[in-house]
Amino acid sequence: MIIGLTGGIGSGKTSIANLFQQHFNIDLVDADVVARQVVEPNTIGLKAITEHFGTQILTSDGKLDRAQLRESIFSDPTQKQWINALLHPLIRAEINHQLTQTTSPYVILVVPLLVEGDWKTLVDRILVIDASPETQISRTCTRDKVPASQVRAILNSQASRQERLSFADDVINNDSPLTQEIQQALLLEVTQLHQKYMSLC
Ligand code: ATP
Repeated sequence: MIIGLTGGIGSGKTSIANLFQQHFNIDLVDADVVARQVVEPNTIGLKAITEHFGTQILTSDGKLDRAQLRESIFSDPTQKQWINALLHPLIRAEINHQLTQTTSPYVILVVPLLVEGDWKTLVDRILVIDASPETQISRTCTRDKVPASQVRAILNSQASRQERLSFADDVINNDSPLTQEIQQALLLEVTQLHQKYMSLC
């Protein structure tokens, strides 16, 4: 059984997914991690990108220069389309591969843009990590040291809070700051969901 775990930027997807892993040994597959793996040195992905953009897209130690790539595709929709057409199938294939390697009774697939993309058919249930836009912005600004306007722009490009919630089978509200009490409450929610998922699979 595959649980698709999603939520907007800075909602706490990674933090909550880690609770399932740490407390119940549930395997995680993370689309963001896979997206980095498919462009590591010596991958088909990085080879194709280097052939397309030239070696100036690489850092001096042969890795993908992400800032450079972002700049190259930022104002050019054709390049953006090209990179998406290259990377999406590679990411999808690698996710499928990693899913086949998992051994826990169910697996959590963390996908930031789950409801926006065509991932819904891959998962059996959708768990949404919910937080208010204000919380998402303040946490992301603190974590990434970026201006609020940048986070707001990303937030606006994602599904709205209501739209995302409309796809949810289960919801964890992660809006409150992490006091000891809230930490315990979150772990209780995760425990109850784990038991539900165990009984379902
Ligand atoms: P992204 O989509 O941007 O990768 P995410 O949804 O995976 O983010 P996390 O990285 O888990 O979110 O959390 C964002 C930041 O907020 C992290 O620095 C994390 O430590 C912090 N955080 C998560 N949950 C809480 C909480 N309940 N209270 C305070 N801080 C939190």
